Amino acid sequence: MTKLRLAIVGAGPAGIYAADILLKTERGFDVSIDLFEQLPAPYGLVRYGVAPDHPRIKGIISALRDVLDTGRIRIFGNVLYGRDVTLDDLKKHYNAVIFSTGAVRDADLDIPGIDLPGSYGAADFVSWYDGHPDYPREWPLKAKEVAVIGNGNVALDVARILAKHADDLLPTEIPANVHEGLAASPVTDVHVFGRRGPMQVKFTPLELRELGELCDVDMIVHDEDFDYDEASKAAITSNKQVFVIDKVFTQWRARPAGEASRRLHLHFYAKPVEVVGSDAVESFRYERTEPDGEGGVRGTGEIREIPIQAIYRAVGYFGSPLDGIPFDEKRGVIPNREGQVLDDNDEQLHGVYATGWIKRGPVGLIGHTKSDAMETIKNLVNDQASWWAPSHPDESAIVELLESRGVEYTDLDGWHRLDQHELALGEPEGRVRIKVVPRDDMVRVSRTED
Ligand SMILES: Cc1cc2nc3c(=O)[nH]c(=O)nc-3n(C[C@H](O)[C@H](O)[C@H](O)COP(=O)(O)OP(=O)(O)OC[C@H]3O[C@@H](n4cnc5c(N)ncnc54)[C@H](O)[C@@H]3O)c2cc1C
Repeated sequence: MTKLRLAIVGAGPAGIYAADILLKTERGFDVSIDLFEQLPAPYGLVRYGVAPDHPRIKGIISALRDVLDTGRIRIFGNVLYGRDVTLDDLKKHYNAVIFSTGAVRDADLDIPGIDLPGSYGAADFVSWYDGHPDYPREWPLKAKEVAVIGNGNVALDVARILAKHADDLLPTEIPANVHEGLAASPVTDVHVFGRRGPMQVKFTPLELRELGELCDVDMIVHDEDFDYDEASKAAITSNKQVFVIDKVFTQWRARPAGEASRRLHLHFYAKPVEVVGSDAVESFRYERTEPDGEGGVRGTGEIREIPIQAIYRAVGYFGSPLDGIPFDEKRGVIPNREGQVLDDNDEQLHGVYATGWIKRGPVGLIGHTKSDAMETIKNLVNDQASWWAPSHPDESAIVELLESRGVEYTDLDGWHRLDQHELALGEPEGRVRIKVVPRDDMVRVSRTED
């Protein structure tokens, strides 16, 4: 029987779901799947993006682990596509490749002053508090007043982690250096700014409601933002999420003024204009907007300014190009038709597929990567006639190649060792786990047999 030797690059949810779906798909050939991941640990943004105080979402890791634990997928961690393996290597060893490399960097926000010291990308901050090995261990948390730009779930994650008292994060898996950093933060006020109205936000009701439950943090919203236009009123009656969001705001607005030591302010109809400062961030200037009657907003010309000493832009993530693979610079994705990668002439690039955030752009929840993967796998299976014909399809050949190059790859057993090690570190302190952060330590623990 024919065998599909498949390489998947990126062991986030999209890559793991793709492997799972392929294994479960009815097909007339055998499969053998190798998953390449640049980090020594799998799970992508579920491990290094989802906030540590969201244990229910982090729990998706157990479902992903079950897929890996079927023993039908090999994982090669600590292997960077483009450096440790190339497209030519993959063509020699596999019939096809799926790229599921996600998106890790911040989208730009093009306003004056955005590069001042004290101005940060949300993705970098998230990587710090989630213990990503490739980011600095120290984070400057010296500001009393902070702005967060954006109205999606990532903006709320960043605002919540900044406003929350560090000890309330102790039961989670945050690394010790992150707890230390947050505990020393002098922050009193976190201001979240959105260009549009409270009924046009991108965050979900659950994330919003959670803000109102933070210990010793008052939620501040402003009456002027709640004079709903017809489009907002229509959204409340037609959309269940918006209905719940409106309910949450109504409850907050009815609350008496609090006396908490920290405040989290939500500002709507606020379009970023400038980050002001000479040597560092000193204030944030924005233009008041108003509803345009069609569900959008227009500027009013009224400029407002508030003092801040740090600003975080949470205006979206952006994908990164991969060696030898077409890339859409505008959207930050691999150009594709339902997962089949397209070349510059919009022709299918045989043997090359994409799934997850690098296929569709950095929007949507983990669950969405499953439907992505179904579409990509369907096309991969149907394309059997145009798969590559590898010269070294033997499963041992890729291992020999990595070893000949001195790549210190980690495998599934290695991940189990690291996982157990982290759980054991957390146990005496009553914590879920304590993440190992330095890459060398992760690799050492993974590769050291008991
Ligand atoms: C801050 C944040 C919070 C979120 N919170 C939630 C939430 O609470 N609930 C929810 O449902 N969704 C949440 N999401 C969305 C969720 O994380 C994504 O939908 C999902 O992770 C996308 O999956 P992916 O596999 O496409 O990408 P990723 O999860 O990014 O995985 C891509 C993998 O590819 C690897 N990779 C990249 N380049 C290479 C290379 N050259 N070689 C080898 N490997 C490579 C990366 O290291 C990574 O492991 C959140 C996202 C962010 C950014």
